Amino acid sequence: MEKENCGVCGAPVEYLTSSRELTCESCGRREKAHAVCSNGHYLCDSCHGAGIRKTIMEMALMTLEKDPFKTAEAMFSQPGLPMLGCEHAVIAAGAFMSAVKNDGRVRVSNGDMGEAFQRLSRQAAGGYCGLTGVCGILPALGACVSILYEARCGKDIEQRLTMEAVTRISAEIVKLTGPSCCKAYVLAGLGVAVDFLRDAAGVALPVQNRTIKCLWSARHPHGCRLDKCPYFDAARYWPVKTPPPAGPC
Ligand SMILES: [Zn+2]
Ligand SMILES: [Zn+2]
Repeated sequence: MEKENCGVCGAPVEYLTSSRELTCESCGRREKAHAVCSNGHYLCDSCHGAGIRKTIMEMALMTLEKDPFKTAEAMFSQPGLPMLGCEHAVIAAGAFMSAVKNDGRVRVSNGDMGEAFQRLSRQAAGGYCGLTGVCGILPALGACVSILYEARCGKDIEQRLTMEAVTRISAEIVKLTGPSCCKAYVLAGLGVAVDFLRDAAGVALPVQNRTIKCLWSARHPHGCRLDKCPYFDAARYWPVKTPPPAGPC
């Protein structure tokens, strides 16, 4: 198991239950926040993972893949992606919107993808899955559905469909909680979004495998849920089957 490490000094990050006034080490922003390293360093949401978020957005804009699970898997494999964090909300939106765009039956522009990223940046905040019960993947995929239906506050069925989709995604990812895992949430959320698109718009994306095998179990800072998680790959995770060899003494 690996600790979530400070992006400044590498010390373990502690998650607080009450917010504290903290100053971002990178941009100097001062705000109330809930994650600080044991040496007192804090990185705001904009600065935390800024480089990898840009990489993910560029991948989403460039890929020709129509299977959102394959795109998500490729994004998960990018070096520098933290095990947990709202970079995964960017992955959810990027993988889904790029698949719909590349499929071509529903018109999605690069501008629409940028709009989804902008919207999720307003509501996907690191750690708030535990602090308010709203995981960032909900507004991320909600933004995608809203854009596809041209929903906005005050619209009728369009807003209802958007809220319905988000409610279904929330109902699905809560089954994978205890503790939370952003990667499992992305995959479960994509499954609901793919089904929703098929049922509501008649567009079935060409998905080969929605239960991809997780390569990252050993990195989970809170402890992987192991065989309670549908994406867990016991064959790859040595502590489950083969205990480490005993030392000479
Ligand atoms: Zn630090
Ligand atoms: Zn900052």
